[in-house]
Amino acid sequence: MERRGWKQCDFVYIIGDAYVDHPSFGPAIISRLLESAGYRVGIISQPDWKDENSISVLGEPRLAFLVCGGNMDTMVNHYTVAKKHRSADYYSPGGATGKRPDRATIVYCNMIRKKYRTAAIIIGGIEASLRRLAHYDYWSDKIRRSILLDSQADLLEYGMGEHSMIEVADALNAGLAVKDITFVPGTVYRTAALDSVCDAVMLPDFEEICKSRESFARSFFIQYCNTDPFSGKRLVEKYRDTEYIVQNPPAAPLTQSEMDRVYALPYMRTYHPCYEAAGGIPAIQELRFSITSNRGCYGGCSFCALTFHQGRIIQTRSHESIVREATAFTHEPDFKGYINDVGGPTANFRGPACGKQLTRGVCVNQQCLFPTPCRNLKIDHSDYLALLRRLRDIPGVKKVFIRSGIRFDYLVNDPDDTFFHELCKHHVSGQLKVAPEHICDAVLQLMGKPENSVYERFLAKYRRINEKLGLKQFVVPYLMSSHPGSTLKEAVALAEYLRDLGYMPEQVQDFYPTPSTISTCMYYTGLDPRTMKPVYVPKTPHEKAMQRALIQYRNPKNYELVREALFRAGREDLIGFGPKCLIRPRRTAAERSRAEQEGVIREKKRAGNGKRNAGRTEQEGMIRAKDRAVKGAVKKEGKIAGRADSGRKAGAGKSTGSRGAKSAVSGRTDVRGAVAAKAAKERDDGKIRGKKNDREQNHKKAGREKRKR
Ligand code: SF4
Repeated sequence: MERRGWKQCDFVYIIGDAYVDHPSFGPAIISRLLESAGYRVGIISQPDWKDENSISVLGEPRLAFLVCGGNMDTMVNHYTVAKKHRSADYYSPGGATGKRPDRATIVYCNMIRKKYRTAAIIIGGIEASLRRLAHYDYWSDKIRRSILLDSQADLLEYGMGEHSMIEVADALNAGLAVKDITFVPGTVYRTAALDSVCDAVMLPDFEEICKSRESFARSFFIQYCNTDPFSGKRLVEKYRDTEYIVQNPPAAPLTQSEMDRVYALPYMRTYHPCYEAAGGIPAIQELRFSITSNRGCYGGCSFCALTFHQGRIIQTRSHESIVREATAFTHEPDFKGYINDVGGPTANFRGPACGKQLTRGVCVNQQCLFPTPCRNLKIDHSDYLALLRRLRDIPGVKKVFIRSGIRFDYLVNDPDDTFFHELCKHHVSGQLKVAPEHICDAVLQLMGKPENSVYERFLAKYRRINEKLGLKQFVVPYLMSSHPGSTLKEAVALAEYLRDLGYMPEQVQDFYPTPSTISTCMYYTGLDPRTMKPVYVPKTPHEKAMQRALIQYRNPKNYELVREALFRAGREDLIGFGPKCLIRPRRTAAERSRAEQEGVIREKKRAGNGKRNAGRTEQEGMIRAKDRAVKGAVKKEGKIAGRADSGRKAGAGKSTGSRGAKSAVSGRTDVRGAVAAKAAKERDDGKIRGKKNDREQNHKKAGREKRKR
């Protein structure tokens, strides 16, 4: 601040992540945007939450404190789905853990409120966005209030926040008190009375949704249906008679020129140099040479919170803006010619799903791709194709990868295969990762994913195109275990599918109930909020472990879990020696002791063989010694004969003698070799017969055991 000559910041931005000045990081976008609008922004990254002075190092800001938990929800960042601490934090220096508290947004705001009682506090980022109204919290296994109440903040900005941030900043700058900023789309505020709130939909009260799971599911679905900026209504959630949370409709999507402006801000594109000594920020590695080309997703997967955060309307950057960013890479010393990604939530969505989305919004009660593509859906890859071609042509660019998800059902329904061909030819490095997530239609239906036959159609086409191109490339399917609707029967079906595929995934994604998704609502309520029909939910850690183990059934560590799962699912037929079996039968105690005895006998036999072999070696040694003696004698005789014949044919006798001796030795060797070979053959035949007998015995035993069971 001193170097810049600032006496006071307009905004002090407190962030749970290390500061990375790159447009893939939300706080970088918001701070650069405010700076471009003429505001002075000070940043405190990862303040020490045990030291209350850590949030006051830049003093009180003129307009407001801004608080963001980080690029991820802090609970998701800190804990695995099994609620265990993660071993690394990719948004902290050197990947170190423990640099921010759990529920960082709440903790930082409470620290500010303690120090500055009247300061305006505005919260944003994914943690605040997905917890803006009452929500199910997996980690405490209960319904939590809106984060606005727990944090004591004044205003919450949800979604990507560019429009709402500038509007709020301008309102504060114009002298409005934060409590009077109740009109900005994309914000949530609290109020003691509803006199000035009009056109609002009342959600079930907080007390009611805590008591009734049906009410929670109903409330959630109302929120879900109001995520569109064109059709979304104002929502009100009542806490007590004098406390209400009001959610304004979502902010309008950014136009292409607004998107271009946001991504053209002067980012340093890397982390702050102060993190260098700790080894930098791991999250930047993959993102540094990646390009965001679009936002939003109309895929509508039930387990994804994107509909709640970015919405279903696709917002894109222009080709020029993207090409400019890629060209700038080529001047960076670390750039090796590889662009890691050009995408967004879904790489191949480069335009709104249909013509009406940008004027009247998305359909409330209908999905664009699910269960089958809407007849109004525009399936067209020509824009993305043209963009990728331009990027490939930039001098200094060797390869452009696509690592964001490709929506395969959209791709396979495109009647023009040009993009599919170029995808396989230029943008896949041996393996294309796609996310069918499951193969059972009953589970896929709850996931909001297309039927398995669509995935099969995609695979067939992928194979055909690669064959045509003469390429050996594979598909790596992302699969999810324990999603609501998946019983052990479906989990076994998934394991059988992997068996037939001959593939065992290295990692398994267990369903993680993150805030504000349809799947999380199903997990908590046991109801599909879209239909209010009951849904089976695998909840206990043991059942989840069994479902996860089935996906990796070949891993010996999973044997017991897989065996139990197969018995519970009534699929003992998959335990055995047949080609379709997932695991071998476990030996009974009697079988185990017999096997041990056999082991002892084998050991003894081996020891006996050892002694016999030692004896044979001795005998052979003696034979060899005799051979040497005979050979010596023959040589001697030859020499004598040679000397005797030397008067007639000096060399002939020597030669003949020598040939004779060789012949004699080799004759003995042949006989001994034949004997040894015969003995070896007998030994091998015996072993083979023994093994064959063992195998037959084992089969008979297994058959007997099976019949007994
Ligand atoms: S008309 Fe079809 S494509 Fe358009 S928003 Fe509705 S469901 Fe999506």
